[in-house]
Amino acid sequence: MRMTQLFAPTLREIPTEAEIPSHQLLLRAGMMRKVAAGVYTYLPLGYRVLTKIMKIVREEMDAAGGQELMLPIIQPAELWQESGRWVIYGEEMFRLQDRHQRNFCLGPTHEEIVTALIRTNISSYKELPLLVYQIQNKYRDEKRPRFGLMRGREFVMKDLYSFDRDTEGMEESYKKMYDAYSKIFSRCGLKFKIVQADSGAIGGNTSHEFMVLAGSGEAELVYCEECEYAANVEKAAAVPDPSMEPVRGDVEKHLVHTPGTTTIAEVASFLCIPEKETLKSLLYEADGDLVCVLLRGDRQINEVKLQRVLDVLNLELAAEETLEKRGIHPGFVGPVDLNVDKIIADLEVPLMPSAVTGANKEDYHYTGVVPERDLKFDAVADIREVEAGEGCQQCGEPLKKARGIEVGQVFQLGTKYSDALNAVYNDEDGQVKKVYMGCYGIGVSRTMAAAIEQNHDDDGIIWPLSIAPYHVVVVPVSDKNESMMGIAQSIYEDLQDVGLEVVLDDRSERAGVKFKDADLIGFPYRITVGKDTIENGTVDVKCRKTGEQKAVPVTEITQHLYSLISSAT
Ligand code: ATP
Ligand code: MG
Repeated sequence: MRMTQLFAPTLREIPTEAEIPSHQLLLRAGMMRKVAAGVYTYLPLGYRVLTKIMKIVREEMDAAGGQELMLPIIQPAELWQESGRWVIYGEEMFRLQDRHQRNFCLGPTHEEIVTALIRTNISSYKELPLLVYQIQNKYRDEKRPRFGLMRGREFVMKDLYSFDRDTEGMEESYKKMYDAYSKIFSRCGLKFKIVQADSGAIGGNTSHEFMVLAGSGEAELVYCEECEYAANVEKAAAVPDPSMEPVRGDVEKHLVHTPGTTTIAEVASFLCIPEKETLKSLLYEADGDLVCVLLRGDRQINEVKLQRVLDVLNLELAAEETLEKRGIHPGFVGPVDLNVDKIIADLEVPLMPSAVTGANKEDYHYTGVVPERDLKFDAVADIREVEAGEGCQQCGEPLKKARGIEVGQVFQLGTKYSDALNAVYNDEDGQVKKVYMGCYGIGVSRTMAAAIEQNHDDDGIIWPLSIAPYHVVVVPVSDKNESMMGIAQSIYEDLQDVGLEVVLDDRSERAGVKFKDADLIGFPYRITVGKDTIENGTVDVKCRKTGEQKAVPVTEITQHLYSLISSAT
């Protein structure tokens, strides 16, 4: 490809709407353009990267026994009503009606469609196991589409569904996918962690997420360096602080004047006590109920855990108007005599010897509240976030915490969907049985963004070789110098002849501009044809990742690059 022909409109400035490196660089390097919030066009360079990731995914899915098919994006409401998810999926689902006012959605995922396919087309145990997959656009009307390809409303996913006779079969299919996913992300040149995950709205019990470690990741995970334990914070069980002691002697409750202290930090410092001796009261609206949530003052809530415990569809911090209607004064809220529908406490709360809580009266708190004695809870459950430094639940060593980008997730679904949609088969023993399912997703477009988050510097993208849009760029320092252009042209052709993917920067630009674009786009190797080439017969080969530069004789350049690249891809 010649740069003069390549449709890659690069930008010098950082686009203001882009907050994280992958979003900025995909725009700046001319790889994609925004069409609407969370909806993008992939330009040729970006599409080449996407295609390479898809190729790796396909190869590994096929190797693990997957068969590729294509399910429709437009899906009838009836199937989703059968599974119960037409309501559960909520506002994230893009819904539409046809001219006859029949309801449809744009597929956010395909469990319903694929289970319906299997129930009418599989009848015998002889046809199982079956693993089918597709790579396709998915549609989710995300509340906060952001960070470019990270959280789109239209995005590319690989989804595979496994169908087995029983639990053992399902576990075997799961293992195959788990291993295939590890190979895929390794082949994409990514550093990742596999963590235990919550299965959320999809259902099922066992699930793992594949997390690319990056500071910009929206997911948080805890892991232990001593043992193998690693989990998403939504899944990681929070063990109560073992140093907490039960009530000793009589503690008296007192109303104290605490003017202007509306935060935990302010109350603690005003009363000269550690934050962990205060009780944090948070008010949530949960499917129409007002819920008071209690945590030790120094702890953080995990809303996903809370939502799981409450088993509600909608959960939001209560609006001020709601509180006003109930006569609740934000800032001095506490669980004593509070006008709410439910009180949920974290596991640690009943273990607190005594606590300071808001008194539901402006500028006042109670001290000496013994939660177990003075408070009533509708439920006591693990609803808090595990913090770095807490003991690992497997080996007790201090946990580490990191941010990650969820690039894939695998689930054991059991019979959740085959029960709902009645997908059965005749087993060897003549009995009719439910099929056991698993589902396995990879965010293909998100993986592309994650690769940049992990591989970039101030100058631009540093593509891992396996997914780079091209392997090499050949840069003649001057397009006016005919012999330079001639040599560059013949290197370009020779490299293509041995099967390498090459761009020739044949633009009438200063060398500095070409170098900047080469770094921005992130070609793994750059070959510069300049004065040395004419004088000594050598070209300069620069590795984008290490910055290493090396003079290589023109006569050896094809072989040199061929061995570098073929050994690594
Ligand atoms: P998240 O928690 O990030 O919203 P999810 O758990 O809802 O994702 P899954 O249903 O497990 O996502 O989908 C499989 C994969 O698809 C995810 O692991 C992720 O890589 C990708 N994915 C999900 N939502 C998006 C999105 N809005 N934009 C891009 N990729 C996405
Ligand atoms: Mg997920």
